[in-house]
Amino acid sequence: MKNLGYYNGKQGLIEEISVPITDRAFYFGDGVYDAVMCRNNIPYLLFEHVNRLFSNSALLSITPPMTREELMHLIKTLCPLVDGDEKFVYFHISRGSGIRNHEFTTTKGNLCIMIKPQKIENIYEKMSLCTTKDIRFQLCNIKTLNLLPSVMCAQNAKNNKCEEGVFIRDGYVTECSHSNISILKNGRLITAPADCHILPGVTRAHLIDSAQKNGIIVREEKYTLRELMDADEIIVTSSSKMARGVDKIDGISVGGRDEKTLNLLQNDIYNDYLNSTKLA
Ligand code: PLP
Repeated sequence: MKNLGYYNGKQGLIEEISVPITDRAFYFGDGVYDAVMCRNNIPYLLFEHVNRLFSNSALLSITPPMTREELMHLIKTLCPLVDGDEKFVYFHISRGSGIRNHEFTTTKGNLCIMIKPQKIENIYEKMSLCTTKDIRFQLCNIKTLNLLPSVMCAQNAKNNKCEEGVFIRDGYVTECSHSNISILKNGRLITAPADCHILPGVTRAHLIDSAQKNGIIVREEKYTLRELMDADEIIVTSSSKMARGVDKIDGISVGGRDEKTLNLLQNDIYNDYLNSTKLA
């Protein structure tokens, strides 16, 4: 099939699956989500993403409707039903259903899954970014469905013919609308600390590991917009982009001074994806 939607056991085309208006995701964005790439029907780093979903659920007292193992099994069962070699798998758990009321009682969460064909493309093509004030709340470490500032940031980037928006909070770079951002400076990798202002990305963790494995010093510390503009290279990471370099921010040329290290890290991340999802 061309895509697949799943909601609490019902499945069909995404366009055909409907969600009851009592789902708390509908009026409060009361839920958590995650997403993985899938190649050759092997979801990449599935455990890491499902684990993050469950940790995030626990932080918000949301009760998943099934175990981690059951969810991983379900995703692996649904992937082959969708056409194509490479797919994007999105899944969320909302707190549950009920008449609209801010306070909640503990009910079983609702599970929604969407799978569509999507390729990882242009990984060696540089991106252009557009900065936006970070007006998000203090729960950016939790992948919640409340994404309005991220939606506005991404649209602002698009309106300015850029591929991604970068959030700036009090002069410091936090992350992008739907990816993390790190810099290379004098042979070191610098990335914002994993505090309440960024999502601790699975790909960011992979980038840190890869840098350390290659003898690159890693600093998880705050860096400013000026440091971003003066970086030797800028690396944007996410599960669907892997690791991409950047050549323009707000229309100004940036980076391009340490392509060797940039390519080393990009290759490490991309090759791991290819090797882990190779057909036996
Ligand atoms: N930061 C934000 C705000 C995101 O939404 C995402 C991914 O959706 C990321 C970072 C990257 O996370 P990951 O590498 O786990 O995909």
